Amino acid sequence: MENNYDVIVVGAGNGGLTAAATTAKAGLRTLLLEKHNIPGGCASSFRRGRFEFEPSLHELCSVGSKENPYEIYNLFEELGAKVDWHYEHNLFRVIAKGKNGYDVTLKGSVDGLCNCLDEIEPGSGPKVKAFLNLKSKVDSAINYIYAKKGHPNKLVMILKHADFMRVASHSAEEVMTALEIPQKIQNILNTYWCYLGIPTDELSGMHFLNLLYGYVKFGAAMPHYRSHELSLSIADVITKNGGEIRYNSKVTEFLYNEEGRCIGVIANGQKLYAKEIISNIIPHNVYNMSSEHVVSERSLKLANARGMGMSFVTMYIGLDCTPQELGISDYTIFIQDDPTPRRQYETMNDGGFYIVNCLNNVVKDSSPEGSCTLFVTIPMHADNLPADLQPCDYKKYKNNIAEKFITDMEKTLGISVSEHIEEISIATPATFARYLDTPGGTAYGYSLNRWDNLMSRISAEKDDFQIQGLTFCGGHHTRGDGFSSAYNTGSAAGKKIVNKLKGGM
Ligand SMILES: Cc1cc2nc3c(=O)[nH]c(=O)nc-3n(C[C@H](O)[C@H](O)[C@H](O)COP(=O)(O)OP(=O)(O)OC[C@H]3O[C@@H](n4cnc5c(N)ncnc54)[C@H](O)[C@@H]3O)c2cc1C
Repeated sequence: MENNYDVIVVGAGNGGLTAAATTAKAGLRTLLLEKHNIPGGCASSFRRGRFEFEPSLHELCSVGSKENPYEIYNLFEELGAKVDWHYEHNLFRVIAKGKNGYDVTLKGSVDGLCNCLDEIEPGSGPKVKAFLNLKSKVDSAINYIYAKKGHPNKLVMILKHADFMRVASHSAEEVMTALEIPQKIQNILNTYWCYLGIPTDELSGMHFLNLLYGYVKFGAAMPHYRSHELSLSIADVITKNGGEIRYNSKVTEFLYNEEGRCIGVIANGQKLYAKEIISNIIPHNVYNMSSEHVVSERSLKLANARGMGMSFVTMYIGLDCTPQELGISDYTIFIQDDPTPRRQYETMNDGGFYIVNCLNNVVKDSSPEGSCTLFVTIPMHADNLPADLQPCDYKKYKNNIAEKFITDMEKTLGISVSEHIEEISIATPATFARYLDTPGGTAYGYSLNRWDNLMSRISAEKDDFQIQGLTFCGGHHTRGDGFSSAYNTGSAAGKKIVNKLKGGM
């Protein structure tokens, strides 16, 4: 057995790409293995007719800009990955139907948002500002926990980081209620629950705060050429720094030595060895590709106890008219049957909640002149695909969904979509399961339930993942789903390995 590589990274999703770019840039002999013929996983693009569609990204959080850089902008700069960023300056428009419903558009920036909310419910702005101000306190506590490698001194936590304890151990709604944020304002802000896949009466206050702060303070960012541009720019860093990417290379087995250390993988029937392996693919799949004795009882129990995160039904629609002709001027519109996140979560499989994006309202030339695209996202769990759905009925099933949501969208927004459709493509949890190879087609990794939230994941990481030589990253890992989380965990995994093999980074 020969170690041809220092590091093998499995999966070229957002996490795997940043991990491999980090190790390659640090001079480690890096091999990235991807089962598809292009990088990115969720972060990709596809063509139908004259349209190039974005398959996943509504908006990227925590990017920042040249003038006001934040996590993701800095990460791309650090790697030397070039991206033409575009920004949406409103947060979103939300239409909640029914008796207590509303139709409001929220402005970006802390002041913009708080002024908007003050107009809706006088006095609510400063309370929301107080919520956002907790972010710096949470950050200093997280930095302390990381410095103590997940085992902080309890007294220091109580005396110095009491606000963190209050936010981290309560749901977003509990924290907002403690700050006396009115219910209607909570409902409006908590629209973002869907980006983390768990309603805000259960979702950790700290996690929600991170997301909200990332969007409010730094705006939502999109690359010019769909998320494929992001993936290509990082893949370029890998190869320019001597790393190797092998596409069409599905890993089918993880290899271990007698002590249970991960030492390699098999792809296309070839055994490949490295000092360290980084997996961008979900632990469920890794354990199924590993011999039984190497996975600890704790890790197995954790995997079996976890819920799968959300998947989606998505519609990608190319229209033969401009956004103006269509009558749509917003980029992101959330449409809800009920204003409360719990109810939206409970009814999402019946269409109680969906998102409409018109990319041309941020990236004007994202489709040919005189045309525009709509991206409609309906959150759904794979369990909610009809149990008796047969392959021969699948097309009909998708057509029925399209008809239902296009009709609702036309009625709710007062626009006429059907007569302008030139191309339409529909994905379901079955599509995501096939493309990503995740259980139930989850695009969000594991569900961020109360017991399996950001805080418990960070503090238990060392005990939960004990296989020597194997490090995980991606939307299924500690920080949960999303582009920025996957990029950050990939970068952290890469840096950990560089430190281990070279020291001093
Ligand atoms: C419809 C939709 C909308 C979304 N909207 C947003 C949004 O607006 N904002 C946001 O931040 N996030 C959004 N997300 C979530 C986000 O895309 C994901 O959380 C994130 O991209 C996951 O990244 P990852 O690193 O875990 O990799 P993944 O995207 O899961 O990629 C994993 C890679 O591993 C490869 N692979 C799998 N098995 C193997 C194997 N055996 N061998 C080799 N390669 C393998 C796959 O082909 C894939 O390329 C959305 C997702 C979807 C589907």
